[in-house]
Amino acid sequence: MSESPEFFHESQLVSVLTTQPIDRVLDYKAPEGGCFLGAFVEVPLGPRKVLGVVWGAGHGGYDPAKIRSVNRVLDVAPMTHAMREFLIRAGEYTLTPMSVMLRLATRAPGLMDPPSMRRVYQLNDAFEGGKMTPARERVLGVMEDFADAVFTLKELADLAEASTSVIKGLVKLGAVLEVDRPRDMPFRPLDPDFASKDLTDVQADAAVQLVARVQQRAYSTNLLRGVTGSGKTEVYLEAVAETLRQGRQTLVLLPEIALTSEFLTRVVERFGAKPAEWHSGVTMTERRRIWKMVGQGGAQLVIGARSSLYLPFRDLGLIVVDEEHDTSYKQEDGALYNARDMSVLRASIAKASVILASATPSLETWVNAESGKYHKITMTDRFGPAVMPDMSAIDMRQEKLPSDRWVSSDLVAHIKARMLKGEQSMLFINRRGYAPITLCRACGHQIGCKTCDARMVEHRFLNRLMCHQCGETEPMPDTCENCGVEGRLAPVGPGVERLAEEAKALFPDAKIAVLSSDLFSSARSLKAAIAEIANGDIDIIIGTQLVAKGHNFPNLTLVGVIDADLGLQGSDLRAVERTFQLMRQVAGRAGRSEKPGAAYLQTYQPEHPVIRAILGGEEEAFWNAEAAERQAAQVPPFGRLAAIIISAPEAERAFDLGNHLLRNAGPLQAIGAQIFGPAPAPIARVRSRFRVRMLIKAEKSAPLQRALAQWIAPVTLKGDLRLSVDIDPQSFL
Ligand code: ADP
Ligand code: ZN
Repeated sequence: MSESPEFFHESQLVSVLTTQPIDRVLDYKAPEGGCFLGAFVEVPLGPRKVLGVVWGAGHGGYDPAKIRSVNRVLDVAPMTHAMREFLIRAGEYTLTPMSVMLRLATRAPGLMDPPSMRRVYQLNDAFEGGKMTPARERVLGVMEDFADAVFTLKELADLAEASTSVIKGLVKLGAVLEVDRPRDMPFRPLDPDFASKDLTDVQADAAVQLVARVQQRAYSTNLLRGVTGSGKTEVYLEAVAETLRQGRQTLVLLPEIALTSEFLTRVVERFGAKPAEWHSGVTMTERRRIWKMVGQGGAQLVIGARSSLYLPFRDLGLIVVDEEHDTSYKQEDGALYNARDMSVLRASIAKASVILASATPSLETWVNAESGKYHKITMTDRFGPAVMPDMSAIDMRQEKLPSDRWVSSDLVAHIKARMLKGEQSMLFINRRGYAPITLCRACGHQIGCKTCDARMVEHRFLNRLMCHQCGETEPMPDTCENCGVEGRLAPVGPGVERLAEEAKALFPDAKIAVLSSDLFSSARSLKAAIAEIANGDIDIIIGTQLVAKGHNFPNLTLVGVIDADLGLQGSDLRAVERTFQLMRQVAGRAGRSEKPGAAYLQTYQPEHPVIRAILGGEEEAFWNAEAAERQAAQVPPFGRLAAIIISAPEAERAFDLGNHLLRNAGPLQAIGAQIFGPAPAPIARVRSRFRVRMLIKAEKSAPLQRALAQWIAPVTLKGDLRLSVDIDPQSFL
C-alpha cells in the first residue's frame, strides 16, 4: 500500500475505504480533476451515496465498464499519512474492522454537505466618510468596539439597536462591507506568552523537562506524577505553550465533561483565547467546525473526551492525558479501546509527545515508568501553603449505628466543627440512587430488572426504580410483584440520595449539594453546581465518584468516605488498585488551599493491607506489592489478557459458539495462550441477552491479536448471535 502514488488522475482506479460495514475496500474511478491519496470522497454504493477515503490504487480485476466513478472530492483536508497509519494500527490492536475505525474518525455531521457560506458584515477601512445619522453611528460604533469581529445582519442590528435597513444603507454608502464567508471559521489564535505564572523550582524543573521533550519533535511518553494540587496542570500548560510556538497542535484529554469548564477558564487565562472543546455536550455544528478546523490547522488546541483522539489532526505535537488512571478512558461500548493506550500509539506515529498526568497512576503506567520505557517526573508537594490532608480510619465495628444510618458520630462531630469555621465538608459514597436494594418485608423478595440479572435501584428524586445495567426505569410500586402484599416494600442499604437525606436530618442548618451523574440533566447544570460549590456557597457536598475527579474546591477541608470497603469486595483484577486510587483521589479534594484538610475513611476492616496503605500514603510500597502480585500471576501489565464476550437471546446458543471456539483453538495453542471459559458472565443477562465470557491469557511478548484474529475469522455470526473481543479488558462483568 505504501507504494500507492500520491495523486490519481481522472479515471484511474482507486480503492476507497467507506464507513459501511463491508470488510474490504472498493474500487472506483478517480473523479473529474483527479484526487489525492487520503482524499475524503463521496461514492455511490448501490442506490446510496456514502462517505469514503481514497485508500490506495484500485485492485482491478473487475469489468472496467462496471466500475463507477467517485462522485466528488469533499471540501475537507485529506487524511494524513499519520492518521491513516494510526487507524490501521489501532484497528489491528483492538481487532476493530476498518469501516468502524473510519466511522470513529468521521464523527461529525454534515461532512458531505456542500461548503456552506454565511453573509457577514465588517467595517470598510477604506471608507472616506459620508452622511451619518444616530442609528448609523450606533452601528459603526458597535463595529469599532469589536474590532476583529464579524457579524451577521441580525447580530449587528440587535447589538446596535438599529433596523437592518440602516445596515443595508451603510453597505450602499460603502462604510460597511457585505461578504460571504465559510460557515466553519478557524478558532482564535492562542498566545503562548499571554500570561504565564511564576512556577516554583520543582514546577519549573518539571516544565523544563517537558518543554525539552516537545522541542525534540520526536515520540516520547512522560509520566507527570504529582500529588493533587501540586500544579500538574500549570506545568503541562508550559508544554502546551511550547507546542503552540512550534505551530503544532495539542490534544488535552479529560476524563469528565464536568471538568472542562474549569479547565477552559485556565486555558483562557494562560493563552488569552478559548480552545476547541469536543465532547458529547457540544452542538452538531460546532462538532463539524472542530473536525474541519483540526484537519486544516485552524484549531491549535482541543480539549476533549476520549473520542477526540480520532480527530484528523494535521500536525499533532502533544497529547496530554489528564488523570490518566481514570477508568472512563476505556470505551466499553461498540469499539473497545483505551484512549490512554491509543494516545501513546498515535503519538508514536505522529512523532509527538505524550504527558500522562496523575496523582495515582495506573499500575501499567507505573511499571512502564519504573522500567524506563516512560520518562518519570515527580512532584511531591502541594503548591503554596497547601499540604496533603491527614488521613485516618473510623472503625465502624465500634459504632453501634441503627441499620438505616451510615454517618458515624465521629464524622458528625468533625463536620459540625468545620461548619462552625465556615469550611466545607464532603461525604463520598460510590453508589448512585437512594438504595441499592428494594426488599419486600412480607416475603423477602428483592425487585430485579425484567431483562437483566441486576437489582432495580431506587432513585427517589425521580421516584422510579432504575436498572444500572440497561438504564430501564419503572414507577416505584406499592405492592410486591411476588406476594402481592401492599406497603411492605423497604429500601435496604445506602445510596447517595439516602445519604443526603441522613445529612439533612443530622445538619438541618447546612446547605447541602448532591453531586451524582444521574441528577443533572445537562452538562451545563452540572457545571453550575460545581461552580456554586467552588464559590463556597455550600456547606456539605454529597457525591459519587463524579466528585473524586480533579475538581478544585478551595474551601473544602474535610472528606468523609462512607464505605471505604466497598471497592475491595470485587474479584476484579484491578479492584485493589482502583480502591487505592479512588480513596487517594477523594482524600486529595480536601485542603487544596491555605486551610489544612483531613480525610476520614469509615471501614469495618481498618487492618486490611489496602486500607493501611491508603492511610499510610506509602505509595511506592503499595505499587511494589501490587506489581509483585500481578507478576506472580502473570497478569497485566506482566502478561496479556483478552476477553471474548458472546451474547444471544438464548444461553445455549452463546455457549455453543463458545464451546465451538474452545474446540478449535489451534491459533491460540500455537502461541501458548491459556483459555478460561466459556462461562456465564457475572451479570449473565443484560437486555434479555445471555452473555458468556471467555478469557484468554498469554505471555507479554506473544502475538495475541494475530492469533485471536485467526481464531475468530472462521466464525460467521448467524441471526442474533454477537461476539466482541475486548483487548486488555478493564471490566470483567
Ligand atoms: P494539579 O493539576 O496537580 O491538581 P493544579 O495545577 O490544578 O494542580 O494546581 C492547584 C492549584 O494551585 C490551582 O488553583 C493552581 O492555579 C494553583 N497553582 C499551582 N501552581 C501555581 C503557581 N506556580 N502559581 C500560582 N498558582 C499556582
Ligand atoms: Zn436492566
